[in-house]
Amino acid sequence: MARTKSILTEARQIERAVTLINLGARLQVLESETDLSYERLLRLYKEVAGRSPSKGQLPFSTDWFMTWQPNIHASLFLNMHEYLNKVAAMDEIDNVIKAYQLYLEHMQSQGLEPLLSVTRAWRLVKFVDNGMLTMTACSKCGGHFVTHPHEIARHYVCGLCNPPARAGKGKLAGALQLGATQFEQAHALQAH
Ligand SMILES: [Zn+2]
Repeated sequence: MARTKSILTEARQIERAVTLINLGARLQVLESETDLSYERLLRLYKEVAGRSPSKGQLPFSTDWFMTWQPNIHASLFLNMHEYLNKVAAMDEIDNVIKAYQLYLEHMQSQGLEPLLSVTRAWRLVKFVDNGMLTMTACSKCGGHFVTHPHEIARHYVCGLCNPPARAGKGKLAGALQLGATQFEQAHALQAH
C-alpha cells in the first residue's frame, strides 16, 4: 500500500515538475517544490525543455516587484493567487501554477507581454509568506497592489492611478484593472 502511494505521489510530482518546466520555471523552483532528486530533475528538465537549465542565482530582492510595470503585473498575479486560495483547496504550488496560467491567459487576451516569469511569481508568494511583501488597497481605486508591509494604506496610491510622468495612460492601464469580478470571469473561463 505504501509503495503504491509513493508511486502515485511521485507521478504527481513529475507532472508538476513538467508543468513548471513548460511554464519556464528555473530548476531551483523544482528542487524546492518536489522531492525528486537533483539528477532526476536535471534529466527531466533537459528532456522537456530540450536544453540545459540556466545557471546562476535566483533573484532574491523585492525591488523588482516595486518598479512600475512589474508591480502591476505582480499585483494582477497575486490577486488571482489570493482568489484561488479562497475558492479552491489546492496545494500551494498548484495554486501558484494555476494563478500563473490565469495570468498568462489574461496577458494573451489583452495582447500584452507577460513581464512576470513563473519563477518570480513563485518568489513573490514566498515573499508574501515571509512577510517581506504584502498587498495594500489603493486609496483611489481600491484595487489591491503588491507593497512593502509598512505601507500606510490611507496614503497609498497605486501605479495605475499614479503612473510615472513619462508613462502616460497607455494600454497597460486600460487592460489591467484589478477588480475581483475580472478574476471570477477568468476563473470561470478556465473551468470550461
Ligand atoms: Zn489605484
